[in-house]
Amino acid sequence: MKIIDIITQNKLSLSFEVFPPKTETSFENVKHATEEIAKLRPSFMSVTYGAGGGTSRYTLDIAKNIKELYGVPTLAHLTCVSSTRDTVSQKIKEIKAAGITNIMALRGDIPKELENTDRSSWDYKYAIDLINELKSYDSDFCIGAACYPEIHPESTNQKDDIKRLKEKVDAGVDFLTTQMFFDNNLLYNFLYKIREAGITVPVIPGIMPITNANQVERSIKLSGSFMPQRFKSLVDKFGSNPAAMKQAGIAYATDQIIDLYANGITNVHVYSMNKPDVAAKIQDNLSDIISK
Ligand code: FAD
Repeated sequence: MKIIDIITQNKLSLSFEVFPPKTETSFENVKHATEEIAKLRPSFMSVTYGAGGGTSRYTLDIAKNIKELYGVPTLAHLTCVSSTRDTVSQKIKEIKAAGITNIMALRGDIPKELENTDRSSWDYKYAIDLINELKSYDSDFCIGAACYPEIHPESTNQKDDIKRLKEKVDAGVDFLTTQMFFDNNLLYNFLYKIREAGITVPVIPGIMPITNANQVERSIKLSGSFMPQRFKSLVDKFGSNPAAMKQAGIAYATDQIIDLYANGITNVHVYSMNKPDVAAKIQDNLSDIISK
């Protein structure tokens, strides 16, 4: 089933993200975590490509399992920036052959060692290059792309970032998923601005439950997200007590999700990081709110 058809059903729902294993030996652990998350019957599950510590090699295997073994709609991520056209074409063929129709088309982060090199000869410079390729390969793919309520770290201002986002969407994006954010007002403000710029596709907010203090620094570094004082106080108070921090982080994420639903969002994507217990707790907290 296409993600665009799921998220426009006007039902309040949750989707979850998992990342692939780093090595063959951890494959079974990730498979088990994925299965446990799938049992929650989310609206869909996404599988990252090389992000979060996993390798791209296993993205398709995990995505196929989600769809075929557990019957949950799947979104396979694909990045392009440090790949050749041949590698990406091969990946697209494999995704198609696996019967996966939903693809999150991403540029990917520029590897550190390539940051200051000449990019003119690269096969892919931006996500839009991959989106164009996917569309010409199969116009029936349902394509998602990333967006940044607090602007992409490489962008110098929001106006340019939104201009580039509009070009990306116009190339054939069906829906957008946001980078994590910890203050919903940043999302509402962003939505207002992109709608004003003529971007009309559905936007799925991405919520990251911060369940341990170490995660805070890593997540902020990765995303550049603003930490509201309310969240900082919570980390100050509970950061050194793992169980309390986990409970407080889940409560904070739940609170954000309830506010999003109350303000017209229907599907929220949870960066569940291969943690079935966290996914289950959030879903349980919303049991009378989300649609059955
Ligand atoms: P782009 O849309 O190409 O944008 C990157 C930057 O270039 C922005 O500053 C943009 O404004 C600018 N830009 C875009 N087009 C142009 C143009 N034509 N000319 C000049 N400037 C331009 N990473 C992974 O490795 N694997 C994953 O699975 C993964 N999943 C993600 C899921 C989500 C929801 C999000 C938000 C991010 C994810 N990432 C993942 C991280 C992502 O790869 C990085 O944030 C990356 O740096 C940018 O990817 P993008 O697709 O947004 O790039």
